[in-house]
Amino acid sequence: MQDTKDLSWEHPVFKVISEAARHCGCRCYVIGGYVRDFLLKRKSVDIDIVCTGGQGQSADTGNSADGPRCGIMLAKEVRSALGKQARLSVFKNFGTAQVAYKGLEIEFVGARKESYRSDSRKPIVENGTLEDDQNRRDFTINALAISLNADDYGTLADPFGGVRDLENKLIRTPLDPDITFSDDPLRMFRAIRFASQLDFRIEDSTFDAISRNRERMSILSAERITSELNKIILSERPSRGFIMLDKAGLLELVLPEMTALKGTEVISGKGHKDVFLHSLAVLDNVAAASGNPYLRWAALLHDTGKAVTKHFDEKTGWTFRNHDYIGTKIVFRIFKRLKLPLNENLRYVQKIVGLHMRPIVLVEDKVTDSAVRRLLFEAGNDIEDLMVLCKADITTKNESKQKQYRENLSLVEQKLKDIEQKDHVRNFQPPVDGAEIMKVFNLPPCAAVGTIKSAIKDAILDGKIPNDHEAAYRLMIEEGAKLGLAPALPVQA
Ligand code: ATP
Ligand code: MG
Repeated sequence: MQDTKDLSWEHPVFKVISEAARHCGCRCYVIGGYVRDFLLKRKSVDIDIVCTGGQGQSADTGNSADGPRCGIMLAKEVRSALGKQARLSVFKNFGTAQVAYKGLEIEFVGARKESYRSDSRKPIVENGTLEDDQNRRDFTINALAISLNADDYGTLADPFGGVRDLENKLIRTPLDPDITFSDDPLRMFRAIRFASQLDFRIEDSTFDAISRNRERMSILSAERITSELNKIILSERPSRGFIMLDKAGLLELVLPEMTALKGTEVISGKGHKDVFLHSLAVLDNVAAASGNPYLRWAALLHDTGKAVTKHFDEKTGWTFRNHDYIGTKIVFRIFKRLKLPLNENLRYVQKIVGLHMRPIVLVEDKVTDSAVRRLLFEAGNDIEDLMVLCKADITTKNESKQKQYRENLSLVEQKLKDIEQKDHVRNFQPPVDGAEIMKVFNLPPCAAVGTIKSAIKDAILDGKIPNDHEAAYRLMIEEGAKLGLAPALPVQA
């Protein structure tokens, strides 16, 4: 564990804040996430400083203020001590101020005492002492404070055994967990998020209280929940977080499409895998290969179409026909509900989910050039990401099957490379476009233009004509003739 007296080595800014506080005549402490991360030797750029009013007046400056005013005054003092590179923002209504300095965000706020009502996560706030402020923190490991005051600089205030919990890798609430979670149910998601991010365990009575209070999540906004889900998804082994969400009964409330995938069923001696656990294994595999949060979302959701497409047939066994396509619809619904971005990120996840069976089907059907070309065309620049998911999708424990699947996918990858090199169809735009078709046949925008355009695109993807203007132009004239169209311009040689 780091020695808190070393804080100034970590960053010289702490001495500057300490000196500024002496000058303002108030007391201040680094508190919360920064202290936790400092002790865990994790890099952090968000520093929270909590201020309490001076005890009487400062001996040498005569200054004095209460907590909130002290926070703003201190921020101003720090900003001027740090010089031009520091930027100050004051939020008078909240009694807080922020100094941005060389990539650090330092937030100054007066110590607060909070009390809650049952219908809102917004507490009633009063000025308080350092202890009051520590009491309102969510977990013991987030309630740690280090003094920046000259008389006890570097002293750690750890009223709830946070250091011991850091050592034991334990998430625990400082006060009664039922009250903590009922007061602000976001803390239930934060508990699981921290456990997932830091690879910690949630202490039993804290965890039980999450289960008991899970329905309280109904007062949370989707954005708040999603922000925590994103942090879980970005942890090293996100499955841990999702398993905890499931065990606590929260997953069923936020992502019922995932819990619908749980379990196996056996009919006539034939079973299918537990799609929920499989999805989490795929998510972990993707997480080991890529930090892209949306590829991770795609991994989590890639089989969500299976719950509704599951079918048993005596001859063929279990099938999940079209689950890839249905999955893209479910992805949309989930993104909308969770207020995830409905932009190119959604389209990317839908594309990966919609195409995730294609490379595998390619192998089963014998890898034709035309099928590979079509896949390349449809996946475009996301083809590598799609292949990351497909490889991650191999979760069978059967070693010989695993080997065979991997080899099959390597074959597809090689073929993709060969075809791309030869035909350049990845970001392919047909060499004759709609504008040219309209000009040549003197047509307004109409269905015939689309028909001719598709015929050209298909012919190139199927390898019937080369991907060049001359061949495409010739085909355009032929296709036009089939529709009874004659060129209005002289036909190119
Ligand atoms: P990270 O920045 O990685 O999300 P953090 O612990 O710094 O982690 P913040 O949301 O930045 O989390 O909050 C800073 C501190 O404020 C926390 O360490 C905790 O002490 C306190 N805090 C934040 N949210 C809550 C909450 N919902 N209930 C109680 N205390 C909270
Ligand atoms: Mg923080």
